[in-house]
Amino acid sequence: MIYDTIIIGAGAAGLLCATRTGGRTLVLDHAKRPGEKIRISGGGRCNFTNMYCEPGNFLGQNRHFHKSALSRFGPWDFVAKLDQAGINWHEKTLGQLFCDDKATQIVELLVSEAKATGAEIRLNCSVQSIAHDGQVFVLTTPHGPVQAHALVLATGGKSIPKMGATGFAYDIARQFGHEITETRPGLVPFTFPEGRFAPLSGLSLPVRVWNARARFEEALLFTHRGLSGPAILQISSYWREGESVTIDLTAGISDGRDLLTALRDQRQRAGRRNLTTELGQFLPAKLVDFLAPELGLSGNLADQSDTRLREICDALANWTVTPSGTEGYRTAEVTLGGVATSGLDSKTMMSKHQDGLYFIGECVDVTGWLGGFNFQWAWASAHAAGTAIAAR
Ligand code: FAD
Repeated sequence: MIYDTIIIGAGAAGLLCATRTGGRTLVLDHAKRPGEKIRISGGGRCNFTNMYCEPGNFLGQNRHFHKSALSRFGPWDFVAKLDQAGINWHEKTLGQLFCDDKATQIVELLVSEAKATGAEIRLNCSVQSIAHDGQVFVLTTPHGPVQAHALVLATGGKSIPKMGATGFAYDIARQFGHEITETRPGLVPFTFPEGRFAPLSGLSLPVRVWNARARFEEALLFTHRGLSGPAILQISSYWREGESVTIDLTAGISDGRDLLTALRDQRQRAGRRNLTTELGQFLPAKLVDFLAPELGLSGNLADQSDTRLREICDALANWTVTPSGTEGYRTAEVTLGGVATSGLDSKTMMSKHQDGLYFIGECVDVTGWLGGFNFQWAWASAHAAGTAIAAR
């Protein structure tokens, strides 16, 4: 039999697309279970969208490409879907929406909706090759060939190879004449030479972090291998090998000027107080002790001139570090880059090179910030392709 649509990838994008295509739809996935990344995301509660989703929350070579799909399927469209299914949700912080209960509720919802429209989901099935014979797509699988008029690539990016992530969509895109924008790990912890931050491992504090391209204000987490936490994951998507990032460690203390005023006042009241002890009132004491040799923090408050106190506050507000690298695809939440958007129609996600061929979700060169934006892109691009296919 010839299917109307074959979707490769039963992840976030593939499953939502299957709820839209109608006709005879087959979803293939080489994994044992559908929607594995949904299941593990957001600590098992899935940060499924962000209520403040804006085009500026996405990276990609074309800064406008994603606008069309996002304008036709926004955060509230997905929320409405959950409300209708009785799946409760809440805002955690910064507009990030999570399930109250379990992320698997979303997987179950999408699978049952896809099946209700007649879609067939075939798991444990890898695709060995794809060709277009001029009329239909012919896919070779270990269970024999399957054919379809429309083919959707929803196989995600390279992040977390242990979970079966592959560069499959990029290979197929190249086969059909598409360009691939350089891929790199995104939303990923920074690494530093062995053990640099080991003494601080587990310590977290609110910071501002920036480089020439972006700026974020969230929490930083010290780890055995380096730096992590939402602030670092965010800036990692804007970072290149060899570059440094600047961190304002005083961001949680209202602002750096207040710290200076407080230190000056305290110098007057209790000049014999140790500088590091005093700084420990504002920042984690462990961090102050760790930074003391690097920033030359020593002596009593009375020993510090106004200029010196200002220098100290500036140094804490502009702590510059140069990561040696990132943890790579092993732990990256997303893959930056991917199928170049110049080869895709932004309204339908269809290939400009091959009629009936679509690319959706993470494999496309559209990457969201941390905070539910990547699922939102998966839903929106899947809706765009699925509705376009249904209308064929
Ligand atoms: P995926 O969900 O990765 O689905 C791709 C599917 O294709 C998989 O089922 C895979 O098995 C299948 N596949 C791959 N290659 C082949 C092949 N060759 N043949 C057959 N099948 C194949 N984003 C958020 O917005 N909020 C979060 O809370 C969040 N948390 C995350 C936590 C972690 C640990 C990770 C790794 C990512 C997280 N993300 C989050 C990112 C989000 O999971 C992805 O952006 C999203 O899943 C992309 O959807 P997708 O459908 O394009 O790809």
